Formats: sequence, structure tokens, C-alpha cells
Amino acid sequence: MAYVVAAPEIVSLPVAGSADRFPVRRVFCVGRNYEAHAKEMGFSGREPPFFFLKPAQSVVPVPAGTVGEIAYPPLTKDLHHEIELVVAIGKGGRDIAVADAAKHIYGYAIGLDMTRRDLQGEMKKQGRPWCIGKAFDQAAPIGPVTPIARCGELTRGAISLAVNGAPRQASDVSMLIWSVNEVIAHLSAAWALAPGDLVMTGTPEGVAAVVRGDRMHGEIAGLGALDVVVR
Ligand code: MN
Repeated sequence: MAYVVAAPEIVSLPVAGSADRFPVRRVFCVGRNYEAHAKEMGFSGREPPFFFLKPAQSVVPVPAGTVGEIAYPPLTKDLHHEIELVVAIGKGGRDIAVADAAKHIYGYAIGLDMTRRDLQGEMKKQGRPWCIGKAFDQAAPIGPVTPIARCGELTRGAISLAVNGAPRQASDVSMLIWSVNEVIAHLSAAWALAPGDLVMTGTPEGVAAVVRGDRMHGEIAGLGALDVVVR
């Protein structure tokens, strides 16, 4: 048997403190999961969690101690940063209970849910899918995965993003409307989760545009930093 076209490579993230890698299967993203961000996007109150996806091939792995690079994507004039806690699923399952969710986590990483906000806004207005705003090439730079065995369960801790040294986003993971474990429970009711799945858990307030040459510096307590330049 031979594949009739080139088979896709397995996208993988480095594992912190190890030569091993975490293979990426799917990238689930949670929309509007910090109250102040929901408000800045024109919504309020606690709505049920909702999800969208990015292809694994949109992930740009950023090794520890390096500066990642993404190309400014086509078609947009309003490329936004969204700093997010990323959960790496180690053990699959469906209908996972909130109380059992932590057992399904392999680890955590810092990620950027890069967004073509103008295109997303246009799709929203027309009631069309967000793919063009969210699932483009290089839309998900993500740093190393820190195993939960090493950092423990992350339920609180500062999350922040600066651009060229100027603070843009600052919050705490404890401010998530739907906690990581609740997100896993909701997701697994809709999809059978599998090892290798990533979950981008949502971004706090302060999203804004970046342009070519900008350097984004994200931090989440316990996970170190993520640096990415827009080319
Ligand atoms: Mn997001």
C-alpha cells in the first residue's frame, strides 16, 4: 500500500524538561470564557460554553527558550492576540464527570489563539462559520507542554500578555467562567476526547491587534513564558 499523496506530518509539541513530544490530534477552543472578555466582545452573563476548532496543522510549536515566528496572515487588517491556557489531553473518554476530568489531563501549555478579528466579525454578522477568522495557517503558536505530574492541577495563577514590552492582557486562570474540568466535561459530552487533543480554554480581556514586527510575550504562572514575533 502506498498513499496516493504525501501523508500529513504529525504535529507535536515539546514536553518541558524532556526530549519527548506530545502529538497533537485536534485543537478545541472555548469561546468567551472570561467575563471581562465576553463583555468587551459585546456579550454578558454566563452562557453555556461553546466551542470551535483549529486544525492541528495550524499549531506552531515554540520550543522552550526560543522565539516563535508567525507570518502575518492574508486577507486581514485586524490580527488579534488571545493569550490562553492550553490543556493537553492524555487520556480520552466521553461523558467525563467534572470530578474525574483532571485524570484525563496530561499537562498544560501557553498558547495564542490568533484571530483575524475583522473576518470573524463579518462571519458573525452573516451567521456563517468562524473558520476563516480562527482556523488559518499558523493560527495557534503554542509553547512546551508541562506535565501535570510536574506542575500539579492549575486552577489559579496569573495569565498575561505583553506586546513589545507593553502590557495588554492580565488576569488569573481562576477567573475562567467555565473551569478547565468543567470544559472537559462539556466537551466530552459532545465529542469522544482522545489522547493528543488540545483545549484552548479562552482568553481574558485586553485582546487587541498586532502588526508585522510586533513581539508577543505571554506568561502563565507555573508554565513559564511564550514569545512569538509576527513577520
Ligand atoms: Mn480564544
